[in-house]
Amino acid sequence: MSWEVVIGLEVHAQLATKSKIFSGASTAFGAEPNTQACLVDLGYPGVLPVLNEQAVAMAVKFGVAIGAEITRRSVFARKNYFYPDLPKGYQISQFELPIVGKGQLTIKLEDGAEKVVGITRAHLEEDAGKSLHESFSDRTGIDLNRAGTPLLEIVSEPDMRSAKEAVAYMRKIHQIVRYLGVCDGNMQEGSFRCDANVSVRPMGQEELGTRTELKNINSFRFVERAINFEIQRQIDLIEDGGRVTQETRLYDPDKDETRSMRSKEEANDYRYFPDPDLLPVVIDDDFIAAIKAALPELPEARATRFAESFGLKSAQIETLVGDVDMAAYFEQVVGEGADPRLAANYVLGDLTGALNKDSLEIAVSKISAVDMAGLIKRVMDNTISGKIAKEVFEAMWNGEGGADAVIESKGLKQITDTGAIEAAVDQVIADNPQQVEEFKGGKEKVLGFFVGKVMQLTQGKANPGQVNKLLRDKLSV
Ligand code: ADP
Ligand code: MG
Repeated sequence: MSWEVVIGLEVHAQLATKSKIFSGASTAFGAEPNTQACLVDLGYPGVLPVLNEQAVAMAVKFGVAIGAEITRRSVFARKNYFYPDLPKGYQISQFELPIVGKGQLTIKLEDGAEKVVGITRAHLEEDAGKSLHESFSDRTGIDLNRAGTPLLEIVSEPDMRSAKEAVAYMRKIHQIVRYLGVCDGNMQEGSFRCDANVSVRPMGQEELGTRTELKNINSFRFVERAINFEIQRQIDLIEDGGRVTQETRLYDPDKDETRSMRSKEEANDYRYFPDPDLLPVVIDDDFIAAIKAALPELPEARATRFAESFGLKSAQIETLVGDVDMAAYFEQVVGEGADPRLAANYVLGDLTGALNKDSLEIAVSKISAVDMAGLIKRVMDNTISGKIAKEVFEAMWNGEGGADAVIESKGLKQITDTGAIEAAVDQVIADNPQQVEEFKGGKEKVLGFFVGKVMQLTQGKANPGQVNKLLRDKLSV
């Protein structure tokens, strides 16, 4: 029997507001427990929530950017449940009338094909606090700093058909919220995470299978692995005569498996009702128009512009544009006068390699865009060869200064003085009579041997173009 996989994602993007969605407390990450939780976040009786207009603007910005319906009159609802990190006993969310309605997103699959994924809705809600189990041996700590942090929960239709599609969709949302500046996208800090709903059904069957929900996954790699594990678990279970139970499961990256957490709640378990402390959110044409007018350039538009202005390969453009900070860095390098193709090669090659090695984001690169352009310009004006540039890059990365300073202090300036190169060429020819004969006998490949020898003799500083030309001239006499 062959099985069809069905996946729908609920992505939680933490909105990049300075203060919380219903209070003035800071949303900054990493503070001492409970130092950023005011009476509203602590759920004291009698306090009143006040809606943060920025959170509304950011949600609308997302909706407008993907061309989704914006609900003109959306309503906050109380989602009632008990949990130690939720002192109010309810989470303020949106239920029947979410701020963003139906929309869709186009994702690119690995084979280059495109696929449209439906967006069911996106709603505003507050995050809960955190239970701290690790710092105490016999107790659980409660940190309410995160309580009341604004979230946009983006819910997809069950349109994905593989773990890879789900990751492509999640990456797309990540890219868009980062371009829009409505979420910092930091997955380690939990600012961007998802719940993956997974089911399988016999190929050709219309009706959806029973799903499980994999909670709170905060890495693209884990999403893919968790879904693949879950698909196999469900298929094995059904083929062994069992049935999938609708439940919430946790993915354990260490064991690479999912485990049952609790049976799945139905919406009516939460006893949703409109929050009497909050007015409906009414959005008018002017509000939407202002947001539309201020939308930044989005990934597709940037890719098109890069293709038109820089003549790069489409795979290069895709990677450069894939991350908003990388695109900005690249553009700054080019803006400083670096050749776009060289700039793309260095950013995607040496720089990306060094960033990965040191686990750094490009926003905190050890080589600034201006300094990167400085290095490329020395390659462009033949002060150094591409090979020496690698050495200069390394030194710059290690904090030894800008390109010119490194070239100067290490004496790496390329030798373009014909006399000096000629002397080296003459010596190499004199030292290797056998290879000279081979070349003259028609063995073209030997030229590479000679170039290598000259480079060795000049410590890699001879201009390669000149070396090649001189060698040819002299060997063909
Ligand atoms: P909740 O998880 O709060 O009960 P929904 O019923 O709206 O919310 O569904 C949440 C997500 O589950 C959506 O992304 C939806 O596409 C997905 N989903 C629903 N049914 C299935 C299914 N049978 N298989 C896979 N995904 C599903
Ligand atoms: Mg859910």
